[in-house]
Amino acid sequence: MADSSPRTTAGIGRNDTDHRQPDRKLAASKRRRHAMTATRALHARSLSDPEGFWAEQARRIDWETPFETVLDDSRAPFTRWFVGGRTNLCHNAVDRHLAARADQPALIYVSTETGQHRTYSYAELHDEVNRMAAILQQLGVVKGDRVLIYMPMIPEAAFAMLACARIGAIHSVVFGGFASVSLAARIDDAQPRVIVSADAGSRGGKVVPYKPLLDEAVNLAAHKPERVLLVDRQLAPMALTAGRDQDYAAWRERVGAARVPCVWLESSEPSYVLYTSGTTGKPKGVQRDTGGYAVALAASMDYIFCGKAGDTMFSSSDIGWVVGHSYIVYGPLLAGMATLMYEGTPVRPDGGILWQLVEQYRVNIMFSAPTAIRVLKKQDPAWLTRYDLSSLRLLFLAGEPLDEPTADWIQQGIGKPVVDNYWQTETGWPIIAIQRGIDPLPAKLGSPGVPVYGYDLKIVDEATGAECPPGQKGVVAIDGPLPPGCMSTVWGDDDRFVKTYWTGVPGRRCYSTFDWGVQDEDGYIFILGRTDDVINVAGHRLGTREIEESISSHAAVAEVAVVGVHDALKGQVAMAFAIVRDAGRIATQADRIALEGEVLKTVDRQLGAVARPARVFFVNALPKTRSGKLLRRAMQAVAEGRDPGDLTTIEDPTALAQLQEAMQG
Ligand code: ATP
Ligand code: MG
Repeated sequence: MADSSPRTTAGIGRNDTDHRQPDRKLAASKRRRHAMTATRALHARSLSDPEGFWAEQARRIDWETPFETVLDDSRAPFTRWFVGGRTNLCHNAVDRHLAARADQPALIYVSTETGQHRTYSYAELHDEVNRMAAILQQLGVVKGDRVLIYMPMIPEAAFAMLACARIGAIHSVVFGGFASVSLAARIDDAQPRVIVSADAGSRGGKVVPYKPLLDEAVNLAAHKPERVLLVDRQLAPMALTAGRDQDYAAWRERVGAARVPCVWLESSEPSYVLYTSGTTGKPKGVQRDTGGYAVALAASMDYIFCGKAGDTMFSSSDIGWVVGHSYIVYGPLLAGMATLMYEGTPVRPDGGILWQLVEQYRVNIMFSAPTAIRVLKKQDPAWLTRYDLSSLRLLFLAGEPLDEPTADWIQQGIGKPVVDNYWQTETGWPIIAIQRGIDPLPAKLGSPGVPVYGYDLKIVDEATGAECPPGQKGVVAIDGPLPPGCMSTVWGDDDRFVKTYWTGVPGRRCYSTFDWGVQDEDGYIFILGRTDDVINVAGHRLGTREIEESISSHAAVAEVAVVGVHDALKGQVAMAFAIVRDAGRIATQADRIALEGEVLKTVDRQLGAVARPARVFFVNALPKTRSGKLLRRAMQAVAEGRDPGDLTTIEDPTALAQLQEAMQG
């Protein structure tokens, strides 16, 4: 069973090129129709026969007890997949591979912050996870308990996640960049029995102590954890609270080569709670199931990421985000791959570090975010060709819109296909993508691709819920049931799950992604921004993303953010903050005024005067989260002279001050 990767019969036949066709153009169009057919056929089958389709996919993992029912949607939208089946994520990610690949690399750890690197084989990973599981058990953790993981990118963070999965505890990883207030809110929501943390992280060569932030958070929180398990990296001094705080190294010695059996969970029992980024409001605790998630990830590793056992995957994300959960820890390990866990930035010690790692560890599949690529764009492009990238097959990018210039730049630079993919913390795996494991459907710049199997994706009218024809903008929605692996509910708040996600579109009971999209005639989806990024100018509803795209099309503009700002007369007006490619363009005040005029004219021409921003301010940086998302709420608050609120994940704290200055200037 360990290696079975059953191919479904429908839609997998890779299309052959018709060699008799002399006209290359015709051949290409034929190829495309064929290609479309394979992806479409699999998608259609997944929706017409979800039970049959997903039962086949479920063979990709081990089940201790087989499921009785594939799909139970009788309590929609609380969908249950693989009802009655018992399985364990840690077993499938680790133990299952011991027979065939105990000595193969499982976890490759590299830190350019501390200079540490170490490769753990599957056998060694198994050993470490068992030790961690034994420690957690001895600290009192039992099935169903929450364990909050507030850790830098160190192997122990992955051990802790897998150990929780092993003993049926529910992990809640909180991104290490969060400060006390955000952490306290998550402690109160998740109510962990134990917190696993460390003395410090390190970022850009600077030590970031975690322990004081954690202590402060526990003080602020109403809920108090019984125990705090601490990994001492010897980066920062740590004050230990007697009785509560426990030293990981000492415990690791104490438990020795412990072996802890897997606790088999019913498929729908929760594996973890992960909070959304909070870009648009109070973070939601996304609760994930166990069996559905394992199956969905295993299928995605094959159909979308083209990862095979023995390959190496490098996702340059953080375990605090969903990409870290799905494609640093669980996905690659479920597939028997090695996963590269990297602590460091893309530009330190130099702009070639990511590619150096690809060469050194023979990385086959890479996953990053457009924001990281934009950072690289500011570096010497020679870095892109300096290392041997022959092992690398594909570069996946997700998390925010991938603009055409960035996609083009990196695709040309490294000479590898770039695969945009669209999804959310809520879904846990891609909703829209070019599914290269199914067929080589050509990509269209600006679109993440077509709906992925399992998702009954619709572009719907925000007012009526009716399906929009191709070319008409609407809300990206998913008709239930959501496929396996997607969120089961909001942690501790079923009501919020229904109200937030399932009642957003009048006239249609569907899951709302809160993103705008449009479908073209070929079925490709283009994401047009978030539904709450709409501004209302004198009764006209305008998407900030559309205005941004228009402004970006001006050759002098490198990046731009548009927010709606309160206006006594018009309700709201659009305000644009732009970064120019060449500072020389705005050397004088007269230059700025001239360029602002040009930009406004561009918007007039493309979208009409109604969309014209009230002002275009030029800045050097935009306020973004560390995962590269624009902090629009904060920008809007600053533009309206209000308190920007929680800024603990901001990448560059000076960026907001710059906005203020630009507006005052
Ligand atoms: P919150 O829901 O708390 O406001 P968030 O939506 O930023 O936070 P995530 O789940 O990390 O949290 O991000 C998912 C969102 O990111 C999507 O809904 C979409 O807006 C954006 N996104 C992700 N991938 C892409 C992509 N390939 N193209 C365009 N947008 C994307
Ligand atoms: Mg969201």
